[in-house]
Amino acid sequence: MQNKKHVLGVDIGATLVKVGLVEKGGKIVSKTSFLTKKFVSKKAFIKRLIEEIGQVIKNNRRAKGNLSGIGIGIPGTVDYSKGIVHNLTNIKGWKEVPLKKILRKFFKTPVFIDNDANAFACGQLKWGACRGAKNAICVTLGSGIGGGLIIEGGVYRGSNYSAGEIGHICIDINGPGCGCGSKGCMEAFVGNKYIINRVIKQIKEGRKTSLVDMVGGKLQKITPELLTKAAKNGDKFSIEIWKETGTYLGIGLSGLVNVLNPERIIIGGGISKAGKFIFTPLKKELVRRTMNQHLKALKVMRANFVDEAGITGAASLVIENK
Ligand SMILES: [Zn+2]
Repeated sequence: MQNKKHVLGVDIGATLVKVGLVEKGGKIVSKTSFLTKKFVSKKAFIKRLIEEIGQVIKNNRRAKGNLSGIGIGIPGTVDYSKGIVHNLTNIKGWKEVPLKKILRKFFKTPVFIDNDANAFACGQLKWGACRGAKNAICVTLGSGIGGGLIIEGGVYRGSNYSAGEIGHICIDINGPGCGCGSKGCMEAFVGNKYIINRVIKQIKEGRKTSLVDMVGGKLQKITPELLTKAAKNGDKFSIEIWKETGTYLGIGLSGLVNVLNPERIIIGGGISKAGKFIFTPLKKELVRRTMNQHLKALKVMRANFVDEAGITGAASLVIENK
């Protein structure tokens, strides 16, 4: 990081914007957050973003004059080289915003903006579970499936910075519709709401599970966290749902492993907290469907900084460019 020791990471999520000051090694020394959904205009959003970043810098005397840049991860598409954010679905009127230029002018420091999944992969490569790997697949499991590819020691971004959309690998030609417009994508089986939809459908069809009592019969209150809790308590149905989910994930990832021959698969995001309930069937499926030679090189690991991986990932974009 040359002689400047701090980097600022901004994780713009669908519901929350997290801003953190990050030290060498990926340690967050200070952070704050605000709700994304509150903003009706892009102008108000950018104003608040600048205020929050400024506040984090101001609150840390050590950061003043010691900041080597700002990294931003966004849940959408971005022109990585120009720092133009094409869209932010939750902010009204957001279209082709030159966010890099705006922030660089204001803070007079380098700014790097990328898709949040690429930022996640970059953070894992610089400071996390992916450290030292030459080729890897990084996956975040949440409302969607974020994918970041590490190829030959660096983040692979593709021809117009759109690579890594592994959630949209088709795993069932007759599968359900996906948000991307296609059908049977891995995300349509493994994304948060799709898992919960499957749970609710099966309960309505008569499956017995302790989940029903856990939410007092209000099925729409079922969350992946509760599903894990029920699985830990031995609820057969919940264990089965996770098994199915891990299997779907394994089917999609094994295709990618056969293509890329990576040495690691790094799994993060909220859903990864299901732990063995999803990792065991995932690994089993990889063994079933991956070619022997590929399997020898491969390790499946959990990501570091689970809840803060967005901030550290965004911050690492600055380090990547040093
Ligand atoms: Zn899709």
